[in-house]
Amino acid sequence: MTTETMTTYAGSFIAGEEHHNTGDPLEVVNPADGKAFAEVPSATESDVDAAVQAAAGALSAWSELAVSKRGEVLGRAAHHVEEHLDELIPLLTREQGKTLRDSKIELTKAIDTLLHYVGLSKALRGVHTPNLDPGVEGYVLRRPIGVVGAIVPWNFPTTLLCNKLAPALVAGNTVVAKPAATTPLTTLRFAELLSEGGLPNGVFNVITGRGSEAGEALVTHPLTRKIAFTGSTPVGERIMAQAARGTKRMTLELGGSDPMIICDDADIAAAASAASMGRFYNCGQACLAIKRVYVFESVADEVIDAIVEKAKRLKVGRGDVKGTQMGPMHTDAQRAEVAGQVSRTLHAGGELRTGGGPPDDPDLADGFFYAPTVVVDPPHDSPMATEEVFGPALPIWRVSDLDEAIAHANASPFGLGSSVWTKDLRRAREAATRIEAGYTWINSRTKVYDELPFGGWKSSGYGKEHGEEAFDFYTETKSVVLGAG
Ligand code: NDP
Repeated sequence: MTTETMTTYAGSFIAGEEHHNTGDPLEVVNPADGKAFAEVPSATESDVDAAVQAAAGALSAWSELAVSKRGEVLGRAAHHVEEHLDELIPLLTREQGKTLRDSKIELTKAIDTLLHYVGLSKALRGVHTPNLDPGVEGYVLRRPIGVVGAIVPWNFPTTLLCNKLAPALVAGNTVVAKPAATTPLTTLRFAELLSEGGLPNGVFNVITGRGSEAGEALVTHPLTRKIAFTGSTPVGERIMAQAARGTKRMTLELGGSDPMIICDDADIAAAASAASMGRFYNCGQACLAIKRVYVFESVADEVIDAIVEKAKRLKVGRGDVKGTQMGPMHTDAQRAEVAGQVSRTLHAGGELRTGGGPPDDPDLADGFFYAPTVVVDPPHDSPMATEEVFGPALPIWRVSDLDEAIAHANASPFGLGSSVWTKDLRRAREAATRIEAGYTWINSRTKVYDELPFGGWKSSGYGKEHGEEAFDFYTETKSVVLGAG
């Protein structure tokens, strides 16, 4: 690996200041050219302990503030981050690989999520039940859980962080976050900016390092009371088992293999655009990407041709170059994983219509690029049907009707998102009812709203982020009875 000028970081952000981690240095690599440009020492168990102790120390003062006051403080801090978007956008592109446009979309959404919960802090109302018995009334008290460990992957480092941070902080918890080892930099700067913007010391801390060391130390620390995790299903299952000790609270946002059903009465142009955007956005590295398409036989050729055309036309390149529509994959290992899934699938059957390897452009040879790929009618038990494909490769199957499409859609261990394209309200409702997933878009795709609860069924996870429902996963409730006396 070639090295350019390296910046060395302290590694963690604890109690409002940089904290020098005591573990081995990890390189941060630009996925567009494979060059390391920063070095970040890993947090060891003692560094993680320092962060959790800081969060525990800040808990009582933070949780005793009025909820609307917490909202005000977080709101001011979020606006301070917003004023530094121009600095954060290129940093996110450099460490993650996504286009500058997508970095802007991601960071803007992250701040929107913080502000959404700031708004909810003014509107939170409790439950009161009068006359339980003569002269006796009851109400439900919500209390923060305590120190929250937030573990985040590399595909959307800031939005996935803020989905946890916003409801956790408004509900009165304090947080220690661990970003992916390959994308620590934007998160560290984000934390620094929140602190400069007035978030009290210790309320939000960041540790960096490998999941197997720093992540596990956070999960198993006796003072973390809740783990909010986004990542792969195998790691989520492991964390769930570890968090059983201490009966820790959990939210797990895990893998997905979202089906898209295109019926014979769909708006074909709109559906093809959605399939292309939904699969190739962020280089296919999104939990809610469209990962399987089932199209009715009678319109299949038209739909497939339209998707293939769009895939061929996508401008693949460095994320920091104007006009790029799809950047590199995040790591070489991730690219090898997807390449393996595509080649094992094609070995079993199916027709490769475009892509299937790195793009030809010699200027992209050093980065982790993979061309937009479309495979038609592979076997239903091949890897692209049964596994999560976390990259720009889309399998498409012809189906005879809605029943067959739904049966295939549900024959997956995952149940995160899904979509159906039809003008027939009856079909749309039927699909929304029968597909086993936490989200169904009708004639729409992959956009998550802060207003609606989000979370997977089956192996896609447990618990909800977004919506007022997120507060249920960051609070303990207590029923209080006021006697007549
Ligand atoms: P991983 O599960 O490998 O990693 C996610 C995070 O967990 C990283 O910070 C990682 O650290 C950390 N980690 C890894 N092992 C452990 C451990 N033993 N204990 C504690 N923490 C650990 O996921 P990927 O990086 O592969 O991310 C992609 C996955 O995330 C996909 O499956 C995708 O579908 C899913 N995802 C789900 C979303 C949802 O909302 N449902 C949204 C986005 C992605 P390290 O950096 O060292 O690996």
